[in-house]
Amino acid sequence: MSATLRPSPISATVDFDAQGVQHGFLKLPISIDTSAWGAVMIPITVVANGEGPTALLTGGNHGDEYEGITSLLKLASTLKAEDVRGRVIIVPMMNTPAAEAGKRTSPLDGGNLNRSFPGDPNGGVTSQIADYFTRVLVPMCDVALDLHSGGRTLDIVPFAAAHRLDDLAQERASLAGAVAFGAPYAMMMFELDATKLYDTAVESQGKTFVTTELGGGGTSTPQSLALTERGVRNFLIHYGLMAGEIEKPTEPMIYVDMPDASCYVQSEHSGLLELTLSLGEMVQQGDVLARVYDMSRTGAVPVEYRAQRDGVLIARRFPAKVGMGDTIAVVAEVVESLEREGSLSAPKPAE
Ligand SMILES: [Zn+2]
Repeated sequence: MSATLRPSPISATVDFDAQGVQHGFLKLPISIDTSAWGAVMIPITVVANGEGPTALLTGGNHGDEYEGITSLLKLASTLKAEDVRGRVIIVPMMNTPAAEAGKRTSPLDGGNLNRSFPGDPNGGVTSQIADYFTRVLVPMCDVALDLHSGGRTLDIVPFAAAHRLDDLAQERASLAGAVAFGAPYAMMMFELDATKLYDTAVESQGKTFVTTELGGGGTSTPQSLALTERGVRNFLIHYGLMAGEIEKPTEPMIYVDMPDASCYVQSEHSGLLELTLSLGEMVQQGDVLARVYDMSRTGAVPVEYRAQRDGVLIARRFPAKVGMGDTIAVVAEVVESLEREGSLSAPKPAE
């Protein structure tokens, strides 16, 4: 397919082969009402120092997920060449137009970047950004870390995750990075539809890939930023791009699995949402997770939503108002190990 595609219209102002620290842009030509001969300017930092692997660090795949955006902006402004062995490519806001608008999706074409892969050089702005990652940036990297969180409509326990892959060695390398990240949770993640994800574009090129969810609500907190920054550093140390010791979380890591779509509880009503438990609390199949109240009248009995499986509440809708089809809650299964053979077991609480 790629043989017939024209080159990406995006040009980089950085030299990916140069040593040292460079701050620049990925420039995508646009022609809009406010700028006839304009460009989308996507900030990028490249830090290179000698031989070694290349890590691609991304945030702002969704523009309202600030834990990753803020952490990577901080890292880009502080990382020195002598800190690195190999090359670190940092794009804090993959979907820069969305991030500038404070939105999940792009104001230019409504595009959800993480539903736009592998992308198209002749498509809309969002699809063109996806295509550049698929055909230019991802092929440069050995390992990739994509920092997500819940954004404005979800709140999520902090976790790093890998996916089940056909290539067991690739799956294990990715899972090891997710564990090394050192969030309170590590997960084997089930996607509702993986076809158009960045994750799939990276994994299909045989690259080691770790994704994360690190909070939500369309903001960040001192806690969420501290664990994101620690996790990025741990990721770089684990894959040999930085010297130093991996900083483990103080509490034993909780391993969670999402075996299938029954983890997701979605609303079939519109109204006012009441969650009956907090993130991180355990729930049993059949327990009431949430109630949805009819806001058009008093005296009506709320609709109850129940857990479809035993597990831990790992994500919840953040706004109090809920609509048809919205995800209310996600329940994941707590497991001893995420490895298929069971060799990567959870640390003992006493240790
Ligand atoms: Zn996201």
